[in-house]
Amino acid sequence: MRRNITLKPHNTFGLDVMAAYVASISDLRGLEQLRKSGVWQSERRVVLGGGSNCLFMDDYFEGLVILMNNKGVSVQDLGNGRVCVSAAAGEDWTSFVQRMVAAGYSGVENLSMIPGKVGAAPIQNIGAYGVELKDVFHKLHAFDTQTGQLVDFESKDCEFAYRSSIFKTTFKGRFIILSVDFILQTTYQPNLNYGAIRLELEHMGVVIPGIQDVSTAISNIRRSKLPDPMQIGNAGSFFKNPVVHELVFHDLQREFRGIAGFPEKDKTVKLAAGWLIEQAGWKGKRVGDVGVHQQQALVLVNYGNATGRDIFSFAMEIQQSVREKFGIQLEPEVNFI
Ligand SMILES: Cc1cc2nc3c(=O)[nH]c(=O)nc-3n(C[C@H](O)[C@H](O)[C@H](O)COP(=O)(O)OP(=O)(O)OC[C@H]3O[C@@H](n4cnc5c(N)ncnc54)[C@H](O)[C@@H]3O)c2cc1C
Repeated sequence: MRRNITLKPHNTFGLDVMAAYVASISDLRGLEQLRKSGVWQSERRVVLGGGSNCLFMDDYFEGLVILMNNKGVSVQDLGNGRVCVSAAAGEDWTSFVQRMVAAGYSGVENLSMIPGKVGAAPIQNIGAYGVELKDVFHKLHAFDTQTGQLVDFESKDCEFAYRSSIFKTTFKGRFIILSVDFILQTTYQPNLNYGAIRLELEHMGVVIPGIQDVSTAISNIRRSKLPDPMQIGNAGSFFKNPVVHELVFHDLQREFRGIAGFPEKDKTVKLAAGWLIEQAGWKGKRVGDVGVHQQQALVLVNYGNATGRDIFSFAMEIQQSVREKFGIQLEPEVNFI
Protein backbone atom coordinates (compact mmCIF):
# COMPACT_ATOMS: atom_id res chain seq x y z
CA MET A 1 0.00 0.00 0.00
CA ARG A 2 1.28 3.43 -0.91
CA ARG A 3 0.58 6.74 0.83
CA ASN A 4 -0.16 10.21 -0.55
CA ILE A 5 -0.23 9.26 -4.20
CA THR A 6 -1.53 11.41 -7.04
CA LEU A 7 -4.49 9.93 -8.91
CA LYS A 8 -3.77 11.96 -12.04
CA PRO A 9 -2.87 8.85 -14.10
CA HIS A 10 -5.93 7.06 -12.69
CA ASN A 11 -8.75 9.39 -13.75
CA THR A 12 -9.47 10.44 -17.33
CA PHE A 13 -10.47 13.97 -16.31
CA GLY A 14 -6.76 14.26 -15.49
CA LEU A 15 -7.47 15.76 -12.06
CA ASP A 16 -4.42 16.03 -9.86
CA VAL A 17 -6.11 14.57 -6.81
CA MET A 18 -4.04 13.13 -3.98
CA ALA A 19 -5.17 9.97 -2.24
CA ALA A 20 -4.20 9.18 1.34
CA TYR A 21 -3.81 5.44 0.56
CA VAL A 22 -3.63 3.52 -2.71
CA ALA A 23 -3.57 -0.28 -2.97
CA SER A 24 -3.22 -2.20 -6.21
CA ILE A 25 -5.08 -5.53 -6.15
CA SER A 26 -3.89 -8.31 -8.42
CA ASP A 27 -5.64 -11.27 -6.79
CA LEU A 28 -8.23 -12.29 -4.23
CA ARG A 29 -5.60 -12.99 -1.59
CA GLY A 30 -4.39 -9.39 -1.81
CA LEU A 31 -7.94 -8.16 -1.35
CA GLU A 32 -8.51 -10.43 1.66
CA GLN A 33 -5.28 -9.19 3.25
CA LEU A 34 -6.25 -5.60 2.59
CA ARG A 35 -9.63 -6.19 4.25
CA LYS A 36 -7.82 -7.22 7.43
CA SER A 37 -5.71 -4.05 7.51
CA GLY A 38 -6.39 -1.10 9.77
CA VAL A 39 -6.63 1.20 6.79
CA TRP A 40 -9.55 -0.83 5.40
CA GLN A 41 -11.41 -0.60 8.71
CA SER A 42 -10.91 3.08 9.37
CA GLU A 43 -10.86 4.77 5.98
CA ARG A 44 -13.40 5.68 3.33
CA ARG A 45 -12.91 3.37 0.32
CA VAL A 46 -13.35 3.58 -3.41
CA VAL A 47 -12.59 1.02 -6.12
CA LEU A 48 -11.13 2.29 -9.38
CA GLY A 49 -10.81 0.61 -12.74
CA GLY A 50 -9.59 3.08 -15.35
CA GLY A 51 -11.18 6.11 -13.67
CA SER A 52 -12.99 6.98 -16.91
CA ASN A 53 -16.38 7.48 -15.31
CA CYS A 54 -15.43 9.28 -12.10
CA LEU A 55 -15.21 12.84 -10.90
CA PHE A 56 -13.18 13.39 -7.74
CA MET A 57 -14.78 16.33 -5.96
CA ASP A 58 -11.89 17.30 -3.69
CA ASP A 59 -8.16 17.78 -4.26
CA TYR A 60 -7.45 15.29 -1.48
CA PHE A 61 -9.19 11.93 -1.16
CA GLU A 62 -8.89 11.13 2.50
CA GLY A 63 -9.29 7.39 2.20
CA LEU A 64 -8.26 4.19 0.45
CA VAL A 65 -8.28 3.85 -3.33
CA ILE A 66 -8.32 0.24 -4.52
CA LEU A 67 -6.95 -0.15 -8.03
CA MET A 68 -8.21 -3.31 -9.73
CA ASN A 69 -5.30 -4.93 -11.53
CA ASN A 70 -6.18 -8.64 -11.54
CA LYS A 71 -5.70 -10.24 -14.97
CA GLY A 72 -6.84 -13.26 -16.91
CA VAL A 73 -9.23 -14.31 -19.66
CA SER A 74 -10.49 -17.87 -20.15
CA VAL A 75 -12.83 -19.37 -22.73
CA GLN A 76 -15.16 -22.32 -22.39
CA ASP A 77 -16.85 -23.80 -25.47
CA LEU A 78 -20.56 -24.30 -24.76
CA GLY A 79 -21.33 -25.89 -28.13
CA ASN A 80 -24.03 -24.72 -30.56
CA GLY A 81 -21.87 -21.74 -31.60
CA ARG A 82 -21.60 -20.28 -28.11
CA VAL A 83 -18.67 -19.66 -25.79
CA CYS A 84 -18.54 -18.50 -22.19
CA VAL A 85 -15.69 -16.05 -21.70
CA SER A 86 -14.57 -15.15 -18.21
CA ALA A 87 -12.49 -11.97 -17.83
CA ALA A 88 -10.84 -10.59 -14.71
CA ALA A 89 -12.02 -7.17 -13.51
CA GLY A 90 -8.59 -5.60 -14.03
CA GLU A 91 -8.43 -6.42 -17.74
CA ASP A 92 -8.54 -3.36 -19.99
CA TRP A 93 -11.96 -3.32 -21.70
CA THR A 94 -10.72 -2.22 -25.13
CA SER A 95 -7.98 -4.88 -25.20
CA PHE A 96 -10.53 -7.49 -24.11
CA VAL A 97 -12.87 -6.53 -26.97
CA GLN A 98 -9.97 -6.60 -29.45
CA ARG A 99 -9.03 -10.05 -28.23
CA MET A 100 -12.60 -11.34 -28.65
CA VAL A 101 -12.85 -9.79 -32.12
CA ALA A 102 -9.52 -11.36 -33.17
CA ALA A 103 -10.70 -14.75 -31.89
CA GLY A 104 -13.90 -14.44 -33.94
CA TYR A 105 -16.24 -14.26 -30.95
CA SER A 106 -19.07 -11.84 -31.57
CA GLY A 107 -21.21 -9.85 -29.14
CA VAL A 108 -18.93 -7.11 -27.81
CA GLU A 109 -17.64 -5.60 -31.07
CA ASN A 110 -20.16 -2.71 -30.92
CA LEU A 111 -18.69 -1.84 -27.52
CA SER A 112 -15.24 -1.31 -29.04
CA MET A 113 -13.05 1.46 -27.66
CA ILE A 114 -15.05 2.24 -24.52
CA PRO A 115 -12.37 3.28 -22.02
CA GLY A 116 -12.00 1.55 -18.66
CA LYS A 117 -11.73 -1.94 -17.27
CA VAL A 118 -13.86 -5.08 -17.43
CA GLY A 119 -14.90 -4.87 -13.76
CA ALA A 120 -16.59 -1.50 -14.21
CA ALA A 121 -18.54 -2.53 -17.32
CA PRO A 122 -21.53 -3.94 -15.37
CA ILE A 123 -21.65 -0.97 -12.96
CA GLN A 124 -23.41 1.27 -15.46
CA ASN A 125 -24.29 -1.47 -17.96
CA ILE A 126 -22.05 0.16 -20.56
CA GLY A 127 -23.63 0.67 -23.93
CA ALA A 128 -22.88 1.94 -27.41
CA TYR A 129 -24.07 1.51 -30.97
CA GLY A 130 -27.21 -0.44 -30.12
CA VAL A 131 -25.60 -2.93 -27.70
CA GLU A 132 -25.49 -2.94 -23.91
CA LEU A 133 -23.39 -5.06 -21.61
CA LYS A 134 -26.54 -6.87 -20.41
CA ASP A 135 -26.99 -8.33 -23.93
CA VAL A 136 -23.84 -10.45 -23.55
CA PHE A 137 -23.66 -10.75 -19.77
CA HIS A 138 -23.78 -14.18 -18.14
CA LYS A 139 -22.76 -13.60 -14.51
CA LEU A 140 -20.20 -11.87 -12.34
CA HIS A 141 -18.16 -12.85 -9.36
CA ALA A 142 -17.85 -10.28 -6.56
CA PHE A 143 -16.37 -9.76 -3.12
CA ASP A 144 -18.80 -8.54 -0.50
CA THR A 145 -16.96 -5.86 1.47
CA GLN A 146 -19.44 -6.16 4.34
CA THR A 147 -19.18 -9.92 4.93
CA GLY A 148 -15.92 -10.85 3.18
CA GLN A 149 -17.86 -13.54 1.24
CA LEU A 150 -17.65 -14.25 -2.48
CA VAL A 151 -20.97 -13.88 -4.30
CA ASP A 152 -22.14 -14.63 -7.85
CA PHE A 153 -24.63 -12.31 -9.51
CA GLU A 154 -26.65 -13.50 -12.48
CA SER A 155 -28.28 -11.09 -14.89
CA LYS A 156 -31.61 -11.12 -13.04
CA ASP A 157 -29.83 -10.05 -9.82
CA CYS A 158 -28.10 -7.05 -11.38
CA GLU A 159 -31.12 -4.84 -12.17
CA PHE A 160 -29.51 -3.70 -15.40
CA ALA A 161 -31.09 -0.60 -16.89
CA TYR A 162 -30.00 2.28 -19.11
CA ARG A 163 -26.54 3.25 -17.73
CA SER A 164 -27.42 1.67 -14.41
CA SER A 165 -27.37 -1.50 -12.34
CA ILE A 166 -27.85 -2.52 -8.73
CA PHE A 167 -24.14 -1.70 -8.21
CA LYS A 168 -24.83 1.96 -8.96
CA THR A 169 -27.97 2.07 -6.80
CA THR A 170 -28.90 -0.25 -3.87
CA PHE A 171 -25.44 -1.86 -3.59
CA LYS A 172 -23.37 1.21 -4.45
CA GLY A 173 -19.86 0.70 -3.05
CA ARG A 174 -20.65 -2.63 -1.34
CA PHE A 175 -19.37 -5.25 -3.82
CA ILE A 176 -15.99 -5.38 -5.53
CA ILE A 177 -16.38 -7.07 -8.89
CA LEU A 178 -13.59 -9.60 -9.43
CA SER A 179 -14.54 -11.07 -12.81
CA VAL A 180 -17.28 -11.02 -15.41
CA ASP A 181 -18.55 -13.91 -17.57
CA PHE A 182 -19.93 -13.22 -21.03
CA ILE A 183 -21.79 -15.43 -23.50
CA LEU A 184 -20.46 -14.75 -26.99
CA GLN A 185 -21.24 -16.29 -30.39
CA THR A 186 -18.88 -18.03 -32.77
CA THR A 187 -21.17 -17.20 -35.69
CA TYR A 188 -21.60 -13.56 -36.59
CA GLN A 189 -24.90 -11.68 -36.64
CA PRO A 190 -23.94 -8.06 -37.40
CA ASN A 191 -25.80 -5.33 -35.56
CA LEU A 192 -25.44 -2.33 -37.88
CA ASN A 193 -28.63 -0.44 -37.25
CA TYR A 194 -27.27 2.27 -35.04
CA GLY A 195 -25.53 5.53 -35.82
CA ALA A 196 -23.31 5.79 -38.84
CA ILE A 197 -21.93 2.23 -38.85
CA ARG A 198 -23.20 1.37 -42.35
CA LEU A 199 -21.91 4.67 -43.75
CA GLU A 200 -18.47 4.13 -42.23
CA LEU A 201 -18.35 0.56 -43.59
CA GLU A 202 -19.19 2.00 -47.01
CA HIS A 203 -16.31 4.50 -46.66
CA MET A 204 -14.07 1.59 -45.75
CA GLY A 205 -15.16 -0.21 -48.93
CA VAL A 206 -16.59 -3.15 -46.97
CA VAL A 207 -19.51 -4.94 -48.63
CA ILE A 208 -20.00 -7.97 -46.38
CA PRO A 209 -18.82 -6.89 -42.93
CA GLY A 210 -17.14 -9.27 -40.54
CA ILE A 211 -16.66 -8.75 -36.80
CA GLN A 212 -13.30 -7.02 -37.29
CA ASP A 213 -14.77 -4.63 -39.90
CA VAL A 214 -17.56 -3.55 -37.57
CA SER A 215 -15.16 -3.09 -34.68
CA THR A 216 -12.85 -0.99 -36.89
CA ALA A 217 -15.78 1.06 -38.23
CA ILE A 218 -17.03 1.83 -34.72
CA SER A 219 -13.50 2.67 -33.53
CA ASN A 220 -13.10 5.06 -36.50
CA ILE A 221 -16.40 6.80 -35.73
CA ARG A 222 -15.57 7.09 -32.03
CA ARG A 223 -12.10 8.52 -32.79
CA SER A 224 -13.65 11.16 -35.06
CA LYS A 225 -16.42 12.12 -32.62
CA LEU A 226 -15.08 11.83 -29.10
CA PRO A 227 -12.16 13.65 -27.48
CA ASP A 228 -9.29 11.37 -26.51
CA PRO A 229 -8.73 11.63 -22.72
CA MET A 230 -4.98 11.36 -23.38
CA GLN A 231 -5.22 14.69 -25.24
CA ILE A 232 -7.91 16.43 -23.21
CA GLY A 233 -9.37 15.37 -19.88
CA ASN A 234 -12.94 14.09 -20.01
CA ALA A 235 -15.17 11.24 -18.86
CA GLY A 236 -17.26 10.74 -21.99
CA SER A 237 -20.95 11.63 -21.64
CA PHE A 238 -21.33 13.61 -18.46
CA PHE A 239 -25.13 13.26 -18.33
CA LYS A 240 -27.51 10.44 -19.24
CA ASN A 241 -29.99 10.92 -22.04
CA PRO A 242 -33.25 11.74 -20.21
CA VAL A 243 -36.23 9.44 -20.66
CA VAL A 244 -39.67 11.11 -20.60
CA HIS A 245 -43.26 10.01 -21.15
CA GLU A 246 -44.37 10.31 -24.79
CA LEU A 247 -46.96 12.98 -23.84
CA VAL A 248 -44.18 15.15 -22.40
CA PHE A 249 -42.23 14.58 -25.59
CA HIS A 250 -45.19 15.65 -27.76
CA ASP A 251 -45.51 18.87 -25.74
CA LEU A 252 -41.79 19.52 -26.15
CA GLN A 253 -42.06 18.83 -29.89
CA ARG A 254 -44.74 21.50 -30.21
CA GLU A 255 -42.56 24.05 -28.43
CA PHE A 256 -39.10 23.12 -29.72
CA ARG A 257 -38.82 22.23 -33.39
CA GLY A 258 -36.07 19.72 -34.14
CA ILE A 259 -36.03 18.06 -30.73
CA ALA A 260 -34.81 14.52 -31.20
CA GLY A 261 -36.54 11.61 -29.45
CA PHE A 262 -36.12 7.84 -29.67
CA PRO A 263 -39.13 5.71 -28.67
CA GLU A 264 -38.46 3.34 -25.77
CA LYS A 265 -40.67 0.82 -24.01
CA ASP A 266 -43.75 1.73 -21.90
CA LYS A 267 -44.67 4.84 -23.89
CA THR A 268 -41.46 6.62 -23.04
CA VAL A 269 -39.07 8.53 -25.27
CA LYS A 270 -35.32 8.97 -24.85
CA LEU A 271 -34.16 12.53 -25.55
CA ALA A 272 -30.69 13.49 -26.73
CA ALA A 273 -29.11 15.27 -23.75
CA GLY A 274 -26.43 16.70 -26.04
CA TRP A 275 -29.10 18.45 -28.13
CA LEU A 276 -30.73 19.96 -25.04
CA ILE A 277 -27.36 21.24 -23.78
CA GLU A 278 -26.50 22.65 -27.19
CA GLN A 279 -29.88 24.40 -27.50
CA ALA A 280 -29.38 25.88 -24.04
CA GLY A 281 -26.28 27.55 -25.47
CA TRP A 282 -23.51 25.55 -23.85
CA LYS A 283 -21.77 23.82 -26.74
CA GLY A 284 -18.14 24.95 -26.94
CA LYS A 285 -18.54 27.25 -23.90
CA ARG A 286 -15.52 27.56 -21.62
CA VAL A 287 -15.13 29.04 -18.14
CA GLY A 288 -11.55 28.98 -16.88
CA ASP A 289 -10.25 25.49 -17.54
CA VAL A 290 -13.66 23.77 -17.74
CA GLY A 291 -15.69 23.58 -20.88
CA VAL A 292 -18.24 21.82 -23.02
CA HIS A 293 -16.51 20.12 -25.92
CA GLN A 294 -16.69 21.95 -29.26
CA GLN A 295 -18.16 18.99 -31.15
CA GLN A 296 -19.85 17.00 -28.36
CA ALA A 297 -22.16 18.98 -26.09
CA LEU A 298 -22.55 15.99 -23.78
CA VAL A 299 -18.84 15.87 -22.98
CA LEU A 300 -17.36 18.19 -20.35
CA VAL A 301 -13.64 18.75 -20.65
CA ASN A 302 -10.75 19.78 -18.43
CA TYR A 303 -8.52 22.10 -20.45
CA GLY A 304 -5.69 21.65 -17.96
CA ASN A 305 -5.98 22.81 -14.40
CA ALA A 306 -9.67 22.51 -13.58
CA THR A 307 -10.56 21.04 -10.21
CA GLY A 308 -13.31 18.53 -9.51
CA ARG A 309 -15.34 21.34 -7.89
CA ASP A 310 -14.93 23.53 -11.01
CA ILE A 311 -16.28 20.73 -13.21
CA PHE A 312 -19.08 19.95 -10.78
CA SER A 313 -20.22 23.61 -10.51
CA PHE A 314 -20.11 23.98 -14.29
CA ALA A 315 -22.18 20.78 -14.69
CA MET A 316 -24.74 22.04 -12.18
CA GLU A 317 -25.09 25.31 -14.12
CA ILE A 318 -25.75 23.31 -17.28
CA GLN A 319 -28.27 21.18 -15.43
CA GLN A 320 -30.10 24.25 -14.14
CA SER A 321 -30.17 25.98 -17.50
CA VAL A 322 -31.57 22.88 -19.26
CA ARG A 323 -34.21 22.58 -16.52
CA GLU A 324 -35.19 26.22 -16.96
CA LYS A 325 -35.42 26.01 -20.74
CA PHE A 326 -37.01 22.58 -21.20
CA GLY A 327 -38.32 21.54 -17.78
CA ILE A 328 -36.08 18.46 -18.02
CA GLN A 329 -33.81 17.35 -15.19
CA LEU A 330 -30.51 15.98 -16.50
CA GLU A 331 -29.08 13.16 -14.43
CA PRO A 332 -25.29 12.77 -14.26
CA GLU A 333 -23.85 9.57 -15.70
CA VAL A 334 -20.46 10.20 -14.09
CA ASN A 335 -19.86 8.95 -10.53
CA PHE A 336 -19.03 11.69 -8.01
CA ILE A 337 -16.40 10.65 -5.47
C1 LIG B 1 -13.97 9.14 -24.05
C2 LIG B 1 -14.94 8.30 -23.27
C3 LIG B 1 -15.95 7.64 -23.94
C4 LIG B 1 -16.88 6.85 -23.23
N1 LIG B 1 -17.85 6.20 -23.92
C5 LIG B 1 -18.75 5.42 -23.26
C6 LIG B 1 -19.75 4.70 -23.98
O1 LIG B 1 -19.83 4.75 -25.20
N2 LIG B 1 -20.63 3.97 -23.26
C7 LIG B 1 -20.57 3.88 -21.90
O2 LIG B 1 -21.41 3.17 -21.31
N3 LIG B 1 -19.61 4.52 -21.20
C8 LIG B 1 -18.71 5.29 -21.84
N4 LIG B 1 -17.74 5.96 -21.15
C9 LIG B 1 -17.69 5.85 -19.67
C10 LIG B 1 -16.71 4.77 -19.15
O3 LIG B 1 -15.79 4.43 -20.14
C11 LIG B 1 -17.44 3.51 -18.70
O4 LIG B 1 -18.39 3.80 -17.71
C12 LIG B 1 -16.46 2.46 -18.15
O5 LIG B 1 -17.14 1.25 -17.89
C13 LIG B 1 -15.77 2.93 -16.87
O6 LIG B 1 -14.73 2.00 -16.59
P1 LIG B 1 -13.59 2.36 -15.57
O7 LIG B 1 -12.83 1.11 -15.33
O8 LIG B 1 -12.82 3.52 -16.05
O9 LIG B 1 -14.46 2.72 -14.29
P2 LIG B 1 -14.10 3.77 -13.14
O10 LIG B 1 -14.30 5.15 -13.66
O11 LIG B 1 -12.80 3.43 -12.53
O12 LIG B 1 -15.25 3.43 -12.10
C14 LIG B 1 -16.61 3.70 -12.42
C15 LIG B 1 -17.47 3.27 -11.22
O13 LIG B 1 -17.38 1.86 -11.06
C16 LIG B 1 -16.84 1.52 -9.79
N5 LIG B 1 -15.95 0.36 -10.04
C17 LIG B 1 -14.94 0.31 -10.93
N6 LIG B 1 -14.41 -0.94 -10.94
C18 LIG B 1 -15.10 -1.67 -10.03
C19 LIG B 1 -15.03 -3.01 -9.56
N7 LIG B 1 -14.14 -3.88 -10.05
N8 LIG B 1 -15.89 -3.41 -8.60
C20 LIG B 1 -16.81 -2.55 -8.08
N9 LIG B 1 -16.91 -1.26 -8.48
C21 LIG B 1 -16.08 -0.83 -9.45
C22 LIG B 1 -16.12 2.76 -9.30
O14 LIG B 1 -16.04 2.81 -7.90
C23 LIG B 1 -17.00 3.85 -9.90
O15 LIG B 1 -18.13 4.07 -9.08
C24 LIG B 1 -16.78 6.74 -21.82
C25 LIG B 1 -15.75 7.42 -21.15
C26 LIG B 1 -14.84 8.19 -21.87
C27 LIG B 1 -13.72 8.87 -21.14
